[in-house]
Parts: sequence; structure tokens; C-alpha cells
Amino acid sequence: MKNILLSAGACPPKSQGMRALQYQGPNQLEWIEVPAAQIEAPTDVVIRPIAVATCDLDWGIVRGQVPFPAPFILGHEFVGDIVETGADVRDFKVGQRVSVAFQPSCGHCGPCGTGASAACSDVPPTSMFGVGPISGDWGGAFADLIRVPYADNMLLKVPKGFPPEWFTSVSDNVADAYRAVGPFLKDGQPSRVLVVGNHDSLPLYAAAFAKQLGASKITYCTQSDKAAENARKLGAEVEKVTEWPARVASHDITVCGSHDPAALVTAIRSTAAQGNCTCVGIMNGDVEFPMREMYMRGIHFHTGRVNGAAVHEEAVGWITSGLFRPFDIDTKVVPWDEVTEALLNRPAAKLVAFRE
Ligand SMILES: [Zn+2]
Ligand SMILES: [Zn+2]
Repeated sequence: MKNILLSAGACPPKSQGMRALQYQGPNQLEWIEVPAAQIEAPTDVVIRPIAVATCDLDWGIVRGQVPFPAPFILGHEFVGDIVETGADVRDFKVGQRVSVAFQPSCGHCGPCGTGASAACSDVPPTSMFGVGPISGDWGGAFADLIRVPYADNMLLKVPKGFPPEWFTSVSDNVADAYRAVGPFLKDGQPSRVLVVGNHDSLPLYAAAFAKQLGASKITYCTQSDKAAENARKLGAEVEKVTEWPARVASHDITVCGSHDPAALVTAIRSTAAQGNCTCVGIMNGDVEFPMREMYMRGIHFHTGRVNGAAVHEEAVGWITSGLFRPFDIDTKVVPWDEVTEALLNRPAAKLVAFRE
């Protein structure tokens, strides 16, 4: 938690402590007592998370495959109830159930004004919840409470008539998967889509969006039996491999949903002339690109953090319109107090911890 003010003097907070799930090192998670989240700026709210989902990144963290130094409080895809508002919060009030953008952003700086909320200049670079000091030390959502800054920019009310847990991942994994295929399928032209990835939310969500948006053919290249089974359910043809191949035919749209540089090179080499290749996986180091092939075929390559707050409202609309049904794709909901065991055992591509 950042700059928590402990109670002192005449106005003590309602609670001095709260429980939060701390990542303590590879395969080590523990509920610990920390100072309770509080309002620190007049544009803040304090939220009680009621549904928190795993991002694909969380599985890498828990296993120690992502170099984020422990300890920190986990959780950045979440929905919760507002329990306190700062004096300058205009659009929200205590008691409302809201979806929260996973990257803090102000909504009024230069980058935010152009829709580049992931590059907000009012917060530390690469700010997000749930990964500790490396991205701004904003706290995590597997906790009794979490402080959310810039509430009017960061929150959306959960639409009535829908299960709140459907909206946990809208600004992150859902929006991230959409941007890998959606912008290139909008004109309705027949398009061959290749997704390269294993049993993770992002590549499966990308295949689901491709199907819904009318791709003429979807191929899912994977090393994972579970991913193959789920991709077939989504209408994809499966290319099951043991090693990432040099290429998988030729596709107008390719997606790398893996952290493995070899998977990315497969996606790039499988991209047709003037096609679009998007990498939604975070690489831990440099990758050797087949630049000559990319130049000769005029391949457009896209990567980078999704603009979570900027696309938040549109992403909620994909769910309310029925375009995207997150719980059709290998998701397991567990009671809040069983999340530690579930995080260590991974029962599904997407895990959601829920409490009322
Ligand atoms: Zn994430
Ligand atoms: Zn900003």
C-alpha cells in the first residue's frame, strides 16, 4: 500500500487493519494483516472487492516466472463495492457496485486525452494494481479494501441484470484480446486468424472474439491439450505442436498470446503480406525478429500495454451486447477463502474469487 495513513489524533479511521493476499515468492502466498486502505486524495474511493479474477500475468507471478520482486499484494482484475468516497468524486457514491480499470490513470493529462491511458503522465510509468512497487505500489485487489485513485475516470457501474463477476476482466484480458483481432476484422472482409498460445485467457479470448466478429477461419496453434480442447469449443481448428513451428501457413491476422519468444516468431512468420501481427504476451527479454521477412511482406506489428481505462466502457458493452461471454471460456469461480489453494493449483484458464 502506498502512503497509508495510520490512525492518530482526533479522526481515527474506521479500521486500522485489513487482510490481504501477499505474494511472498514462487508458489508462496499468504493472507497477512496490513494497514487498511483509506482515502488519500479527494478524487479517491475505497472499494471492497467482491470478485477478483486472475490475469494471465498472475499465473506467471505465482510460479515465479515473471521477474517482479516479492513481496506484494496480488490482484488487478476486479469488481467491488464503494465503501468511501473522496470529497471531489462526482459520479459515484457509497454502496455502488463498480468495475475498476486495472491501470490507474487520471483521465485529463496529455496521453489520457488521446486515449493512451496506459501512458498516463500523472502516475508512475507502467502503473497497475497488484504487482507491487515495480508498477507504482497501488496495492492489490485480493484484499478487504483497496484505494482507487481518479475514481471518476477509473470506475464504471456494473450493469443491472448481469452477474458482477462477468466484468472483472473487462479492462484487462478482455480488452487486450479484443485489440489483437477486433480492429482488423471490423470491415467484415474474410480473414484468416492464427492464435499462437497455450492454456491462457488471452489467446482463448482472442479466438472467441475472432469467431464472434466473423473471421473466415481460426487456427489455434498450441502445445497444450487443455487449450486445444477449449479452442475447438470456440470453433477454432487446432494445430497441436510440441515445439513452436517455424510457421503455420499464412494468415491475415496473427496473435501471440505466449511469453515464449519462439511463439512470437511463429506468429510473425505466419503473417500474410500486409497482415497484422499482435503480441499480447510480455516478453522477459529481447526477441530476435525476422525483420527481412517482415519488411518484404509489409507486416504490421503491434504490442504494448492495453489502454485499460480508455477502453473500459466499450469493453463493458461487448459483454452487455452478448458479443463476448467470458464465462463460456474455461473459467472457475471459487469462494473467497479458497483462492490461495486455487491460485497454487490453477483449476482453469481464468479463476475468479467471489464473495458477497
Ligand atoms: Zn493483467
Ligand atoms: Zn493521465
